[in-house]
Amino acid sequence: MSPLSHLANSAATVRLTVDLGALAANWRYMRDLSGTARCGAAVKANAYGTGADHAAPRLAREGCRDFFIADAHEGARLRPLLPDARIYVLNGVFDDSFAQILAHDLIPIINSPDQAAFWRENAGTRPYALHVDTGMNRLGLTPEQAVAHAEARGPQPALLMSHFACADEPDHPLNARQIEVFSALRPAFPGIEASLANSGGIFLGANTHHDLTRPGIALYGGEPVSGVANRMRPVVTAETRVLVVRHAKAGESVSYGGAHTLTRDSRIAVCGVGYADGFHRSGSGAGVPLRSAVPQGAFGAINGVQVPVIGKVTMDLTMFDVTDLPEDAVKPGDWLELLGATVPLEQAAEAAGTISYEMLTSLGRRYDRHYTA
Ligand SMILES: *Cc1c(COP(=O)(O)O)cnc(C)c1O
Repeated sequence: MSPLSHLANSAATVRLTVDLGALAANWRYMRDLSGTARCGAAVKANAYGTGADHAAPRLAREGCRDFFIADAHEGARLRPLLPDARIYVLNGVFDDSFAQILAHDLIPIINSPDQAAFWRENAGTRPYALHVDTGMNRLGLTPEQAVAHAEARGPQPALLMSHFACADEPDHPLNARQIEVFSALRPAFPGIEASLANSGGIFLGANTHHDLTRPGIALYGGEPVSGVANRMRPVVTAETRVLVVRHAKAGESVSYGGAHTLTRDSRIAVCGVGYADGFHRSGSGAGVPLRSAVPQGAFGAINGVQVPVIGKVTMDLTMFDVTDLPEDAVKPGDWLELLGATVPLEQAAEAAGTISYEMLTSLGRRYDRHYTA
């Protein structure tokens, strides 16, 4: 990093702390739950926003050898950091990614009959994975196409895989159907390893584990199963700086649109975070139509006490109502937690009308990032 970019960083009004020790502990937990299957890791989208350059090598140190990324570009970036790992490319292969896949020894996950034909024609005996769609209608060959692929001439895949549509809802009937379709397909691929479970899938039971599991969100502290107390350790703490503490009178309004009218004389902490940092506008304290689940909007926290967002979140700034805190508890320069130990990731996501995955992957570029062991 140049001295200048370091300066720019220390002036940031948003700070991100990624606990790599917690990440490692979460991976070990998922590894143990995976039983006899190897446990991989989804590190796509910059390791769910946490920073793949730090997260992936830490997971490799724990013993992870199978990494899933979205495209060949992400794989090329990770290869030097993971010299011995298998790196699978979820979006498969197409003309323009082929050279990168070969150059960095990546394993494409073949997602359609076209991709399968392309690979068999061009890649010789290089390893590939075959994705079968068992009920999501996203990527993957149909089970019938997969059987035809197995019976046709040409190299067989190194890994057969599929993906759950509803693994975070254990009682959803689609889970049982997908488990059944996938298991029924395995005999068409004798001696070939198989992988089905993402984070939620691992909790569904041993009949999802096969040879390799692929947790993502659970590693980063997200809740893998809806409505069950989250057993994962929090990994990400996001904070923002208080820039100004201002006093305002009952009857006055706050932020754009004057959408929030104060019902009492108030103290307002104006903080240096906004929707440009991924602190979504839909978490505004008032004035946005998207959110019905949590009508009052998002919360931050100061010294372990939650404080509500007040008025609309703006591009670079957000106002928090700190009237209930002692006068000397909040001053300019203090850090206010946006998500972390006091504001759980799931709560922050729900308040913005979204999910933990989107919260993490939206964390903006302005964050001054710190990694703890
Ligand atoms: C993202 C992804 C995963 C990881 O899913 P989580 O729900 O985050 O555990 C696993 N498999 C595939 C195909 C994925 O796209």
